[in-house]
Order: sequence, then C-alpha cells, then structure tokens
Amino acid sequence: MDLNLSTQERAFRDEFRAWLEANVPRDWPQWREKPLEESFPYLRVWQRKLYDGGWAAVSWPKEYGGRSATLIEQAIFWEEMARVEAPPMANALGLGLIGPTIIAYGTEAQKKRFVPKILSAEEIWCQGFSEPNAGSDLASLQTEARPEGNGYVVNGQKVWTSYGWIGDWCELVVRTDSSVPKHKGLTVLLVDMKSPGVEVRPLRQMTGESEFNELFFRDVRVPRENVLGQVNDGWNVAISTLMHERGAYGARLLPLFKRNINRLIELARTFPRGGRPAAEDALIRQRLAQCYAEVEIFRLNQLRASSRLTATGIPGPEGSIQKIFWSELNQRVQQLAQEILGPYGQLEKGDPCAVDNGLWAYGYLRCRGNTIEAGTSEVQRNIIGHFVLGLPRSY
Ligand SMILES: Cc1cc2nc3c(=O)[nH]c(=O)nc-3n(C[C@H](O)[C@H](O)[C@H](O)COP(=O)(O)OP(=O)(O)OC[C@H]3O[C@@H](n4cnc5c(N)ncnc54)[C@H](O)[C@@H]3O)c2cc1C
Repeated sequence: MDLNLSTQERAFRDEFRAWLEANVPRDWPQWREKPLEESFPYLRVWQRKLYDGGWAAVSWPKEYGGRSATLIEQAIFWEEMARVEAPPMANALGLGLIGPTIIAYGTEAQKKRFVPKILSAEEIWCQGFSEPNAGSDLASLQTEARPEGNGYVVNGQKVWTSYGWIGDWCELVVRTDSSVPKHKGLTVLLVDMKSPGVEVRPLRQMTGESEFNELFFRDVRVPRENVLGQVNDGWNVAISTLMHERGAYGARLLPLFKRNINRLIELARTFPRGGRPAAEDALIRQRLAQCYAEVEIFRLNQLRASSRLTATGIPGPEGSIQKIFWSELNQRVQQLAQEILGPYGQLEKGDPCAVDNGLWAYGYLRCRGNTIEAGTSEVQRNIIGHFVLGLPRSY
C-alpha cells in the first residue's frame, strides 16, 4: 500500500485541519472529566457543529449527508481528530454502525426519515442485540415480534444496551419465525424508544457509571414500515451492523489511545516511583516504548484496512484482527498506568490526590469490558480461525 497522501488526500486533510483549528472546542478537557450524563449535551452540540460543517460522517454518500470520502480520507479524518484531541461525537452507534446499516438496507423513506437526525445528533440510537441468554450466540435470541394489524407486537428483554438511557431509537433484532433454523427466523426492527411498553433500567458498572441498560418490551407496537431489510433476513442485517461495529470502533478509539499513551509518557517523566521518576526505571521505559509502538501499529493497520477496502471494496478480516488488537492493547496500557502510578492510580474522580482527576482509575476499570463488547476476543479468534485460516468451525 502507498502511505504517501495523494494531492486530493492532502487537500482533504488541510481543509479539515483548518476547520478544526477554527472550531474544535478548547474546554473539552474540563468536560471530559464529568459523568457522561452531564457531558452528553456538550457532545451533542459538538456533533451538531461537525454536521453543520459537513464533517459528521465523511465516508457516507453525499446524498445522505456525507462527503463520499474515500476510506483513506476517513482515516485522515480520525487522525486529525486525534491530533487535536477533539471530543467524541454523541451519536456514536448511530454514526458508526446503525446509520451505515440503514443506508445499506433501508427503504428510501427510512433513509430520508432517520439518516439526517442521526448525523445531527437530534436522535440518539442504541443497539438492542444481546439478551440474557444470547450474547456470543446472538442467533439464539428470544425476543419475539408477532404480526398484528399493520405491524408487529414485540415482547422480550435485551441487556447491555449502551446508550439505552438516552436512546430515542433502537435497532432491535427480534425473532419473527421460530419454526425455521435459528439464523433464518430473525428480523430487524427500528423501534421508537418512547413507544408504550418500552422500559429502560440502568445497569451499574464497576466504574460507577450506568453506560448500558436492560431493555424490557411488553406488547410494544412497531409499524410494518419500520422493518429494516426483509422480514426473516435480520441475521444478514445484524451482521452488517456488527461488521461496521468492529471496523468503526478502532478508528474512533485511535484519538483516545494516542492521548493515553502520550499522557502516560509525560507522567512517567516526573511521577515518583521507588524514590525517582518512573521513567528512570529501564523496565518502565521498555514497556512505554512497547505500548507506543503498538499504538503506531494499530494506527497503521487501520490505514492498511482502509487501503484494502478501497482497493477491493470487500471488508477483510481486519475488523476482527483490529478488534482483538485494540481491546487487548488498551488493557496493557491501562495496566502499565497502574504500575507507574501505584496506589495513586486507584484514586477516583473527585479525590484531591487522584492523578488526572481519576482518569486512570476509570480507564483501568472500563477497559475490562473492551474484550467483551462488540464480540469477545474468543469470538474474534473463532472468526479469524475459521473464515481467514480455514480451520474447523468452533461453534
Ligand atoms: C461495555 C459493553 C457494552 C455493550 N454494549 C452492547 C450494546 O450496546 N448492545 C448489545 O446488544 N450488546 C452490548 N454488549 C454486550 C456484548 O455484545 C456481549 O456481552 C458479548 O457479545 C458477549 O456475550 P455474553 O455477555 O452473553 O457472553 P457469553 O456469550 O455468554 O460468553 C461468555 C464467555 O464464553 C466465551 N464464549 C462464548 N461462546 C464461545 C465460543 N463459541 N468459543 C469460545 N468462547 C466462547 C466468551 O468469549 C466469554 O468469555 C456490551 C457489552 C459490554 C461489555
């Protein structure tokens, strides 16, 4: 692959760089430390600003509010966001996975109705896939939708629904036929979270946040026009969302990882460990250098994945490879932070002695979920083993 930017790519980078220079908010570091519920309106405003500038989803087709940017340009977009440590966008799932699925499978009416409000963060989306007895084995899900009148009546439960607490709409996978093999009886519905019969309950994580939720559906009516794709073809629609999820996450996380490793290197220069700055310990230097190199590998692999997609148009195994790599890398970086900071690393937000106002205590607890969300590491290895290496199927 060619890592040198073409004239067009350089022009794209320069234009976005100039826009960021003029528009990126400078007070994000103060907001970053507030609970998500408090900072969420701030993130909405930021996404709206990107939308107004035409930067909310650069790779989406122009007719749906994007710039029809190439995947390399998309990678440049995230690199520039990382460079200035820009805030994340509020509608992460809408932009990263659900919007692209609606663009791929939706009717023109659905695209017109939903896509602009995803881009502007007027409507926040959540993803109702996992259930108490269906996570890795998603196709075993039990939430059912029974046809009635001009639509469906939904009953069942979802769990671990990120953004459920703030979600206006949900991409919900339901069973519409239980008489056929499990993958063949699923359908995706676009569900208004304000419909009667939808109940959202918070789930408290070990970070103290309630980032995700349990969702209960009791006789929830969903009009027929809100079926996404074909009835009983929900498996393919859901897989498309998951492919976007595995691919998109990496790009969005790059800014965070770059910030973390750079900050950790800065801290190590002065933070005392065993009576001298941590960076004077050769072992710490080795591990910082290793983590720094791995963040670079992650960045370059992201570009490679984009380059391959641009060349072939076919998503490769990079999604699963990147998912394993970033989730385990983040855990290594957070572990190293704890070793450098010692007990100070465990002090939480609000404690006067906490380093970076508890960022590292939070990061260490939150990173455990990285190897579970968007498909566990074991499941990603199964995908690579079977679909890439041609080894026997694991499930
Ligand atoms: C932070 C976070 C956010 C999330 N957000 C959402 C969301 O917004 N929407 C949503 O629908 N879900 C969400 N999830 C749920 C997530 O997708 C599931 O937790 C994940 O798919 C695993 O399912 P499970 O928890 O049921 O575990 P299980 O599938 O029960 O797995 C338990 C263990 O068994 C292993 N295992 C299972 N099957 C195999 C196999 N075939 N081979 C080898 N090992 C196997 C797994 O790797 C795991 O270690 C989120 C999870 C987290 C942690």
